[in-house]
Amino acid sequence: SGASNYHISEQLQKMLGINTETVSPGVFRARFHPEDVMIYDALEGTMTNTRSGDHTIHSTEFRMLAADNTYRWFQFRYKVNPGKNRVIADIGGAVLDITSEKEKDILIEKMAYIDDVTQIYNRNKFMQIGQETFECYKEVNQSYWIIVLDIDNFHIINDTCGYLNGNKLLNEFGQIVKDTLSKGGFGARIGGDNFAMLVHDTGDETLPVTLIKKIQTRLQEVSSEFLMHQTVTCSAGYCKMSDGGDNFAAILDHAEFSLSMSDGTKGDIIRYDNKVHERILAGNALESELAHALENGELVLYYQPKINLTDGTLIGMEALIRWIKPDGTIIPPNQFIPVAESSLLITDISKFVLHEACRQNKKWQDMGFPPVTGSINLTAVDFYQTDVKEVIQGALTETGLDPQWLDVELTESLALKDIDHAIQQMKEIKELGVKLSMDDFGTGYSSLSYIQVLPITLLKLDRSFIMYLEEDEISREIVSAVIRIAKSKKIETIAEGIETVGQAEILKESGCDHAQGYFFGRPMPVDKFEEFMAMKCGMNVNA
Ligand code: C2E
Ligand code: MG
Ligand code: MG
Repeated sequence: SGASNYHISEQLQKMLGINTETVSPGVFRARFHPEDVMIYDALEGTMTNTRSGDHTIHSTEFRMLAADNTYRWFQFRYKVNPGKNRVIADIGGAVLDITSEKEKDILIEKMAYIDDVTQIYNRNKFMQIGQETFECYKEVNQSYWIIVLDIDNFHIINDTCGYLNGNKLLNEFGQIVKDTLSKGGFGARIGGDNFAMLVHDTGDETLPVTLIKKIQTRLQEVSSEFLMHQTVTCSAGYCKMSDGGDNFAAILDHAEFSLSMSDGTKGDIIRYDNKVHERILAGNALESELAHALENGELVLYYQPKINLTDGTLIGMEALIRWIKPDGTIIPPNQFIPVAESSLLITDISKFVLHEACRQNKKWQDMGFPPVTGSINLTAVDFYQTDVKEVIQGALTETGLDPQWLDVELTESLALKDIDHAIQQMKEIKELGVKLSMDDFGTGYSSLSYIQVLPITLLKLDRSFIMYLEEDEISREIVSAVIRIAKSKKIETIAEGIETVGQAEILKESGCDHAQGYFFGRPMPVDKFEEFMAMKCGMNVNA
């Protein structure tokens, strides 16, 4: 076809700024926009290959150099009438300048798919390309890495350096992502300070980490230039398309889940782990079930007696929570308190326990039982909450229980998390007139010297010391030493988990003040505990 020339209409001559009725295909092709040359080649193919009798109307769009020597968009609608021997084709058609429509389309595309701040693609586009890639992966089994990145402490940068610098950082980040992907791949800003990348899986398992580290290095260089020499890092989560997921949204979700596992401050790089994800999802399911249980009244308190070892009287009871499901199964606290602790639920549960234990204790006093101390357990989450004092005061006021009959049990690991803060909180709680006990003493890493600085009234020796008291000389020595030191500090002692009369006797001989355990009574529901108290009173009256 190179030998033939095109006859072009007057109108087209004007459009293209050509003052000749014929041009060679070579000249024509050279006027095409480099990215549209393949359209020209396709067009030429159609012209030479059309058989006579084919009256198809073709339509194509391309950019070509126009009269003003800029590229303009043209639409070409044509029909081919093959010439004899296919030498010269007669092409009937019309050329339209559609530049302004095209520019509108591009603008719309841009608005829909380009992120304003960074000028790179946005989440919509990432999802679209991602889904296409995913379908392609299913066809030809060509996998991709999905990487999501988050600028660490971006809100602090925004606060300290200003919104404009924040935007500048996002912009730089976008550029870094783009540069890092220059050898193929797709990048986007998928929201806030989150960016995402789609990278061809070449079989190199270290590729994502290599790329992420490159980005982290560049980020540090760039940020120190204009962010007052702050070191900016980014954290990342990633996964491989072939590692599972029913669609691209699910796969991106995996990468974002991994990112959420980082603490978001020090450039963690975390690969998606299915098992971790499942565990968290199960935890979430339990969490929402638990929230429901609380509203539904499925959480109830059992009470376990505390006994004075010298005279056998009842000195109090510990409220121990139980989750009783509608079908009657009882779930012990160790199975749901940790879940509640990792969510905000614990606060509500503790408020419930506090209120319910105070209310019940006051009720027993009003029924004529001799007043005793009711203990509740608080977790670190509750304890370090600034309003813990107000919450306790509120429960006392609402139920009318005198503060001296409430005892708050705290674990030593809780107190040691932040010792100064702990002392402060404990003092405030004690000022209410409430007692404070150190639960599970001996299980943590604390030494007895801590007892001196913590304002506690009572030390609860952990069950692990009590268990081998009868067989183990060392346990006996430790226990009596602890009791002795506590006494010298005017701190009372109680032993928990006493199951045998032998253990009770050894503790009594060692000078332990009180005791709690199955030997004296198991945790019981309200009605059973009432019977227990009635029996105890009776016994004491008769003794
Ligand atoms: P804890 O405060 O040290 O409570 C003592 C645990 O030892 C209770 O387990 C009790 O049933 C058990 N126990 C008592 N005597 C004996 C005994 O003689 N032998 C044996 N083997 N065990 C004995 P429970 O009720 O399952 O509670 C476990 C833990 O769950 C508690 O340890 C406490 O840390 C936590 N917990 C219970 N109720 C609450 C609550 O209302 N709020 C919070 N935050 N934690 C609670
Ligand atoms: Mg306790
Ligand atoms: Mg304990």
